[in-house]
Amino acid sequence: MKKPFVTKEQLDEIVKSYPTPFHLYDEKGIRENARKLKAAFAWNKGYKEYFAVKATPNPFILKILQEEGCGTDCSSLTELLMSEACGITGKEIMFSSNETPSGEFTKAKELGAIINLDDITMIDFLEKECGIPETICCRYNPGGVYEVSNGIMDNPGDAKYGMTKAQLIEAFGILKEKGAKRFGIHSFLVSNTVTNDYYPTLARTLFELAVEVKEATGIAVSFINLSGGVGIPYRPEQKANDIMIIGEGVHRAFDEILVPNGLGDVAIFTELGRFMLAPYGCLVTKAIHEKHIYKEYIGVDACAVNLMRPAMYGAYHHITVAGKEEAVADHVYDVVGSLCENNDKFAVDRKLPEIAMGDLLVIHDTGAHGFAMGYNYNGKLKSAELLLKEDGMVQMIRRAETPKDYFATFDFSPFSEKLF
Ligand SMILES: *Cc1c(COP(=O)(O)O)cnc(C)c1O
Repeated sequence: MKKPFVTKEQLDEIVKSYPTPFHLYDEKGIRENARKLKAAFAWNKGYKEYFAVKATPNPFILKILQEEGCGTDCSSLTELLMSEACGITGKEIMFSSNETPSGEFTKAKELGAIINLDDITMIDFLEKECGIPETICCRYNPGGVYEVSNGIMDNPGDAKYGMTKAQLIEAFGILKEKGAKRFGIHSFLVSNTVTNDYYPTLARTLFELAVEVKEATGIAVSFINLSGGVGIPYRPEQKANDIMIIGEGVHRAFDEILVPNGLGDVAIFTELGRFMLAPYGCLVTKAIHEKHIYKEYIGVDACAVNLMRPAMYGAYHHITVAGKEEAVADHVYDVVGSLCENNDKFAVDRKLPEIAMGDLLVIHDTGAHGFAMGYNYNGKLKSAELLLKEDGMVQMIRRAETPKDYFATFDFSPFSEKLF
């Protein structure tokens, strides 16, 4: 059974100060999980997690993770700016962008970030824009179909990211000639893996590549970035990954492949987003309407702009009716938002306890790729983000949008006076 990290009693208090809907984050859960990840890779001297900012772009969250030893993985100008504002700079930033707009490499280099090149053609682009830095990383795409032991797979051959092996080896040669001194390899092949085998399998692929690179170019890479992709159990019947087993699996591959090839000093990096935050955030929304037509509908005050994953991918997010955790799930509902879009459904044919108007619904696992994917369709406004602190207090870490925010980009126009 999935249990929210917040009780009905706590929620009843919170909604007195902050109207629903809002995203709520669990500081204790975030910190404990970050410490577990660090422990799982403690065997590697240079290990570092670069939190994927896109998952939860909030400076308060970045600061918590920084205190736990994490840097940031950025892929846009604003993510770099947010990182800088948090005092996360230099080698604490990985800049893993693709199809990079002009100006962003300059900002990344100015901050001293580690730049990760998505393509061999980016070498010229980077050199013209701001010169080649001494530390540089290249992103690898093995092509074909990538399978982990339990059958979870993806299709790197169809993915727009990374370089072929031949290109990566050629790129390292060119970069060395142009003055690069420290090299890294990066790859991200499968998203949201719920298996302990993904990282160890990917590690083997990249460690073997590092050995080939050394043989072909004489370059001993300094770091290998396993990027994101370690998933979480969105469904109650799924079993959570064991990060200690994952860390040990990577350790074994390291000892078997890198150490005997004189690459025992390689630092392991990760760029996890979902694993770091998803379970430690929830979307809290209120049941405001019920409708009985061909199906039973519960209308809530959140909608897909607050959480897009169900509408976008049909993603499952578990729902708990606050205070009815132990009640029998003997009703079947579609839980829906107010967009004029029929895919605005947080749950379809979901078995839940009987819902009364005014009940608070906790939509689980929204801490990553939740608020972040929000948009403003139908003129809907984005919600606040709140932090449940370790001491039980609640802190607002982003205010809710107002119409003024929504209209801000008309500030140049004759309508601005009427709109504000
Ligand atoms: C999205 C992304 C991540 C994080 O992915 P998760 O699935 O959230 O772990 C890491 N690195 C890069 C380059 C990404 O695009």
